[in-house]
Amino acid sequence: MTEKLELIRRLKDEHDLSDSELKKLIESPEPDADLFRAADELRRSIYGEDVYIRGIVEFTNFCKNNCYYCGIRRDNRRVERYRLTDDQILQCCEAGYSLGYRTFVLQGGEDPYYTDDRICGLLEKIRAAYPDCAITLSIGEKSRESYQKYFDAGADRYLLRHETADDALYRRWHPEEMDLSNRKRCLFDLKEIGYQVGAGFMVGAPYQTTEHLIADLRFLQELDPDMIGIGPFIHHVDTPFGDQQSGSLEMTLRMLSILRLLFPDALIPSTTALGTIDPQGREKGFQAGANVVMPNITPANVRELYLLYDEKICTGEDAFQCRGCLEGRVFGAGYRMVVSRGDRIRQGTAK
Ligand code: SF4
Repeated sequence: MTEKLELIRRLKDEHDLSDSELKKLIESPEPDADLFRAADELRRSIYGEDVYIRGIVEFTNFCKNNCYYCGIRRDNRRVERYRLTDDQILQCCEAGYSLGYRTFVLQGGEDPYYTDDRICGLLEKIRAAYPDCAITLSIGEKSRESYQKYFDAGADRYLLRHETADDALYRRWHPEEMDLSNRKRCLFDLKEIGYQVGAGFMVGAPYQTTEHLIADLRFLQELDPDMIGIGPFIHHVDTPFGDQQSGSLEMTLRMLSILRLLFPDALIPSTTALGTIDPQGREKGFQAGANVVMPNITPANVRELYLLYDEKICTGEDAFQCRGCLEGRVFGAGYRMVVSRGDRIRQGTAK
């Protein structure tokens, strides 16, 4: 057995490796077919062929922050800004529900217009109309008190990518007023309140090394999130990182498989960013261990305004087309889309 095969076998059985072993796996020049196979076997042993779907509503592209990599950052004056009304958001949920979505993800920039009262009012309306659905928020860093209010108003899950667990790298990606320790504080607060929590990081972003990626894995082990979202860094031309090289499909898939082996029962999406860097990217994501897909159910007329990065796919299709297209892709990759809230099936094995 080659050294790489032995590392994969141990990672699959023990769900951990030392830093130096992870480094070997991450930097291996050998093909990843065995790694993908091991990740897929482990995912099938818990989730079978099931792929869970979440309908994303991108309800505001205003943001008070200025992350250097993000297309809707505050200082990008070329973005036409929009907000959806509560009625428009509820219409998205209605269309999504009829298409089989049982999780709605309300995603937006950190938009001060959406006070806690506005968010809670919206949550209460969705919760009353769809008691059988999970409601996920993805609206950035807030106080613990705000998170508690959203939870009490009906939110079940919260997505907040940590982006990188390394302080120095975080500093290079964000302006002075942003702070990694606050982001980590948010994630632990969310867990303590009782949310199902999603974290995650970018792959192949500027200045990132293997050691940074290992730090991300270690941070995730500490947090033990229910969901882990990773995607390749893709530059947006109207940002300070506009001339930086994008991350690769190969490294993103490799990290996705390693995540599956480290966190056997995690909910791991095959992200839109994967589909953006490769036409078959999302299918390859499933085959590397992903078990979630998050189609857009935002009205098609504003989708192209929510461009976090260049060339983002699926900006012109309506919810029905998006659902149909993805179902075919999931089936073609050897899996099946299911109508379900898609909660984590806890195994008690993640470290
Ligand atoms: S990454 Fe998020 S917080 Fe940062 S600028 Fe973009 S939308 Fe705002």
